[in-house]
Amino acid sequence: MIYVSNVSKRYGKFLANDKVSLTVGNGELTVLLGPNGAGKSTLIKSICGLLRYEGSITIDGHDNRSIEAKQLLGYVPEMPVLYPMLTVLEHMEFIARAYRLTDWQDRADALLRRFELDDKVNKLGKELSKGMQQKVSICCALLPNPRAVILDEPLVGLDPHAIRELKLLLGELRRDGVSLLISTHIIDSLGDEWDTTCIMTRGSVARVCRREDLSGGDLEDLYFSITEGKDTEEKEAPHE
Ligand code: ADP
Repeated sequence: MIYVSNVSKRYGKFLANDKVSLTVGNGELTVLLGPNGAGKSTLIKSICGLLRYEGSITIDGHDNRSIEAKQLLGYVPEMPVLYPMLTVLEHMEFIARAYRLTDWQDRADALLRRFELDDKVNKLGKELSKGMQQKVSICCALLPNPRAVILDEPLVGLDPHAIRELKLLLGELRRDGVSLLISTHIIDSLGDEWDTTCIMTRGSVARVCRREDLSGGDLEDLYFSITEGKDTEEKEAPHE
């Protein structure tokens, strides 16, 4: 379970996250939806322990900065960061050693095959296209069988095959009880494969919407009523 309570983050004087709270239960997929600049990546980086913040964040009950939490959490950043001089297979080996995994080769092979990287295992990080790097980044995050996975704009830059595989994989992880948090600025990018959507604007969660609560309503209509509707304009002032 991912538990975020009253998290605020400032860059200098600018309040990028303002008392954000959310929970992603086991086997739940939560979408963080919001316009560019809403504060999604900032929140994700705080949850992954990459930024200092005020508030409290736990992963399966462990403070997110603890080793226990880091062992439970997989993170796919918006921009893949690979080692330029390691091959694809060496990236898998690096993760396996860092997490002290045993018998990881079959899982690595299966992941690489799903993302059509099995014929690229000897290519160096610097020789890969942006989309290929993104796919290696996904494989690295999933290799240790994490109990919580956070993906920042994961579909951007992927080819259609990889998008389909990633969506299938997310469905499998969800059924296996993994907590999934995915940021996107594209409405409906995950179809119906989500449980909760948190609509973020200007650093805050403006609305938490469970899929069953939409009751035939349109997520797009709800999104625009919040991001471009009257109540959003009223909230604008404190940040300026
Ligand atoms: P999103 O992921 O929703 O597009 P971000 O979390 O990247 O939003 O950014 C939220 C706000 O914080 C933006 O106004 C952005 O300019 C600002 N911001 C992000 N990173 C930094 C930084 N390192 N220093 C200063 N401002 C930042």
